[in-house]
Amino acid sequence: MRALITAFAIILLGLAAVLGVGLLRLPAAVGSSVTATPLAVDADAAAARLAAAVRIATVSPSADAANDAAFAALAALLRSQYPRVHATLGVETVGAHGLLYRWAGRDASLPPVLMLAHQDVVPVDGASRWQHAPFSGDIADGYIWGRGTLDDKGSLIAQLEAVEALLAQGYVPRRTLYFAFGHDEESGGDDGAGRIAALLKDRGIRARFAVDEGGAITRGVVAGVSAPVASIMVAEKGYVSFELRTHERGGHSSMPPAVTAIGRLARAVARLEAQPMPAHLTPATATMLETLAPRLPFVQRLAIANRWLFEPLLLRQFARQPVTDALIRTTTAPTVFRAGVKDNVLPGEALAIVNFRLLPGDTIADVERHIVGTIADPAVDVRAQQKFANEASPASDGHGPGFALLRDSIAAVYPDAVTVPGLVVGATDLRHYAEVVDERCNFLPGRLDARDLERIHGTDERIAVSEFAGMVRFYADLLRRASAS
Ligand SMILES: [Zn+2]
Repeated sequence: MRALITAFAIILLGLAAVLGVGLLRLPAAVGSSVTATPLAVDADAAAARLAAAVRIATVSPSADAANDAAFAALAALLRSQYPRVHATLGVETVGAHGLLYRWAGRDASLPPVLMLAHQDVVPVDGASRWQHAPFSGDIADGYIWGRGTLDDKGSLIAQLEAVEALLAQGYVPRRTLYFAFGHDEESGGDDGAGRIAALLKDRGIRARFAVDEGGAITRGVVAGVSAPVASIMVAEKGYVSFELRTHERGGHSSMPPAVTAIGRLARAVARLEAQPMPAHLTPATATMLETLAPRLPFVQRLAIANRWLFEPLLLRQFARQPVTDALIRTTTAPTVFRAGVKDNVLPGEALAIVNFRLLPGDTIADVERHIVGTIADPAVDVRAQQKFANEASPASDGHGPGFALLRDSIAAVYPDAVTVPGLVVGATDLRHYAEVVDERCNFLPGRLDARDLERIHGTDERIAVSEFAGMVRFYADLLRRASAS
């Protein structure tokens, strides 16, 4: 999920600029005091169980026998480490190694809640640069070290730790809880999340909300806001690429026509670039600004409080940088331009591909209308590529029941954090569940600084033992709230 979480950091960084705050402070050291302790967690024992999971190299993709053995070993480890979970919850294997757990609630009439995490990790490049070997699972200097500690075995193990602890207390959920752990998120998620989502759909199961990795808790990233900011991503951009083609008479370059295939296509692409899709604040971004406003200096507070008047100004500020421009519009990115083979031959055809990331509220059909209208040239052939095309998620505003429950759990475990909704510009397994989930929440309940974000898919991935215990407490609190309400 590197694309996701890095984009998240960049967006917060970009926001500081949008909000007109001059100096970005460097992220402070992550705080260590957790005043509310809803669940007593044996942090060292939990850390040892995460370390054991990290030692199993479940590298994505899972195409060879060695990897099959690794995923089987991880499933066996989970069985031995979480006996209560496996005695009480139903578990089935979906696809090659996907795991779907079901914790039956007392009231079968209530729609369930779906918790997600993924078992696979990205490969390691340059293992010698790690302070502790990437699959050592070493516990040293207060950290659990290794690939997957942050992305995403930390979430997976923390969720099972929470269920095991709740079972030990004799807890019985009122609402049914599902836990879906895919095995190929880092290579698209089709066999894991894709098949699990299809299975839920077949069974007529629709979740009230779902929680997956994504936004996290950062501190000192938005200048002017001293409190840690917990960002729950409630909407996701869509994806589509369009092929533009021009056909003109080819021939010798000594007697060219007035308009060539290349010239016509270049003009079309230039027009698209000059006239991007219209900008607007999505409900999630508007709510984020409103939530942060009371903590910002007067001028920014004034602009956000009077959005009816200052929205054009805010949008102009957002548009100044690519990272924040991506939050307010469907972006236009020409990525391929192909024509011609020889300097003295006119090509008969030219091809360009333009990639669009759809803002919630814009559809693929809207983009096609925009392209055709902007190019204003019927001689340019416009066609959407079907591969990977994906409409944006509904424009959630962060006022759903899932968001509220997560915010309450964040307040219980991290009382000083301010919770805001956000927009995912990358992709997680959660996108596979669009048809079986009412509300989506991407949130990883850990406090991360800028260096931690670099460690994801990078070198020296690790999580503090105390931070991991906080994740367990968060999930236990959330599962209780989610299953009782
Ligand atoms: Zn991930």
